[in-house]
Amino acid sequence: MSRRQILDAVVVGAGPVGAALALALARDGFEVALVEARAPKPWRAEDEVDPRVVALAPDARDLLDDLDVWTSIAERRAGAYRHMRVWDALAPGELHFDAAERGAAALGWIVENRLIQDALWRACAAGASAVALDREDRAATYSGRIFESRRAAGDVRVHCPAEVVEIENGDEAVVATLDDGTRLRAALLVAAEGAESSLRGRLGIAFGGRDYGQRAVVAHVATERPHESTAWQRFQPGGPLAFLPLADGRCSIVWSLPDAEAARVLALDDAAFRAELGCAFDFRLGAITAATPRLAFPLRLRLAERYVDGRCALVGDAAHVVHPLAGQGMNLGFRDVACLRRVLREARERGDDHGAAPILRRYERERRSENTLAARGLDAIERVFGTDIGPVAALRGAALAAVDRFGPIKHWFANRAAGR
Ligand SMILES: Cc1cc2nc3c(=O)[nH]c(=O)nc-3n(C[C@H](O)[C@H](O)[C@H](O)COP(=O)(O)OP(=O)(O)OC[C@H]3O[C@@H](n4cnc5c(N)ncnc54)[C@H](O)[C@@H]3O)c2cc1C
Repeated sequence: MSRRQILDAVVVGAGPVGAALALALARDGFEVALVEARAPKPWRAEDEVDPRVVALAPDARDLLDDLDVWTSIAERRAGAYRHMRVWDALAPGELHFDAAERGAAALGWIVENRLIQDALWRACAAGASAVALDREDRAATYSGRIFESRRAAGDVRVHCPAEVVEIENGDEAVVATLDDGTRLRAALLVAAEGAESSLRGRLGIAFGGRDYGQRAVVAHVATERPHESTAWQRFQPGGPLAFLPLADGRCSIVWSLPDAEAARVLALDDAAFRAELGCAFDFRLGAITAATPRLAFPLRLRLAERYVDGRCALVGDAAHVVHPLAGQGMNLGFRDVACLRRVLREARERGDDHGAAPILRRYERERRSENTLAARGLDAIERVFGTDIGPVAALRGAALAAVDRFGPIKHWFANRAAGR
């Protein structure tokens, strides 16, 4: 195969981050293949809201808008939040962000993971196999290799279900062999398979950090009073409790608790759970009147020691896993996408080999420092707010109140959260 016949990029993992990257590169005229192990379950309006939701920052929304998928997400189900209130269980003082103060319509949007992935997945597959997609929709599954199909300009070649069983990370190209024997030869391979990335291990990249000894209990709840389009967060010694406003008027909760406490809360009956949750939330929205079944996710900090190996790069949770207390994980992943996209585009404009390691290291330099800073910052917040030592609690209450009153610092925090 000649140099010109190879793909520009292979992206492995079609979660929100990988699918967004594949689509972005295809839109920029790169020839892209996307490999996904498990066909995502289609999003349907009549289904219960997916238990996993994320708070999307404005720059993440901008990326999705640029990829022409935001309108479809917003029209289907996205809850804008205009306020954010953060307070401490052990000290007075509250931090309040208001979109109006920033001249913005919203501080962010609460969206189901599955809906984001669905919109991106449809867009990736759109030009390739729309008829098959409709047929599969009716069967409520996207499964089968139907997406390995012809390619029009701007399309992504989707291989699903498929996994990479071997990589040859060469000087001229990287060759990924799939479990069905297909060999994909490309200038660049990007691992976007999430926290359990097997390619990261295959490339010998260490992934270190710490376990928080906590689990995030998630559920959707109805409350006595309306959520006021506000993202609420109460810090407690065991971990933070967030109430995120859903488009249907309910709240999605993310309750970080020590492992044993999480196990106990998961085992409570519905009435006891609602009573404890209302109490843990200071009854800020009155009683909890209904709750969906609970799920729990272990919380960890993990950082890849490097993001690049030869012609391979890591993005999203494959590169970094952070505490969800500020709702940053996917937002950081989308910032990886925006950065890698820009670096590759600039390389092509200069006529450089966009998959060469020196090019990929530009991406690594920019994103690894930013993600590490974010992860360490969140880790520090978790440590400071996770203690019930009296003087520390008093200090952090005072700090919240001070940040709330001091415009420039507050503005800085708001900008960081918004990705500006
Ligand atoms: C409780 C909780 C709350 C959170 N809240 C927020 C929030 O408010 N805001 C925010 O920004 N982030 C939040 N996050 C983090 C966010 O969910 C993740 O950062 C995000 O889902 C990572 O996306 P990803 O595409 O990198 O990985 P994933 O979503 O894990 O996707 C990986 C994809 O790769 C596929 N795959 C895996 N292995 C292979 C393989 N070998 N071959 C091919 N494909 C493979 C998988 O099937 C999947 O489709 C939260 C996380 C938790 C646990």
